[in-house]
Amino acid sequence: MRLIIMGPPGAGKGTQAEALAERIGAAHISTGDIFRANVKDQTELGRTAQRYMDAGEYVPDEVTNAMVKERISRVDADSFILDGYPRTVDQVETLDAMLVELQRPLDVVIALVVDAEELIGRLLKRAETSGRTDDTEEVIRHRQAVYSAETSPLLEIYSSRGLLREVDGMGDIDEIAQRIDDALALEH
Ligand code: AMP
Repeated sequence: MRLIIMGPPGAGKGTQAEALAERIGAAHISTGDIFRANVKDQTELGRTAQRYMDAGEYVPDEVTNAMVKERISRVDADSFILDGYPRTVDQVETLDAMLVELQRPLDVVIALVVDAEELIGRLLKRAETSGRTDDTEEVIRHRQAVYSAETSPLLEIYSSRGLLREVDGMGDIDEIAQRIDDALALEH
């Protein structure tokens, strides 16, 4: 299965994507995780990405697209869950071209729907333990604004293609996982 998991910062994308990847045996491709690994290893990509991440801005499309292209072309990505990508209309177009070239069409896009104030609360809670430099209140609010402006229009694009499934992202982790499985019509 090939899918994208979308949702605003704090919607629980990372947690759900990781667990779902395990359940269905797909590669979990998280652009945020790849950037953070590069920051940790102090690679050139990491140095470029860090400035944007710390400010709550998106890393430029050409950098992100090249990174995803390299990852999604590998053999283990015949089944994949994209987590945190695409985030801009340009990234959607690039992804479309990559998947045509690889002959790996998308099956579905899951969008986690979570109430805005709940999101800020979750992220502030995560900030206490995550050690992420982009989990301060100011940066969190900025990341929500960037999401609304740049990424929420993608929901309409995937909806018009008939690929979008909205899933209630409120509640506990297992409950949400069950709703995702229901949306994907996975058996238990
Ligand atoms: P995440 O872990 O998905 O919340 O991503 C953390 C940060 O990494 C974001 O705030 C961006 O700075 C950067 N990032 C992750 N994915 C992308 C993407 N698809 N396009 C641009 N920047 C991204």
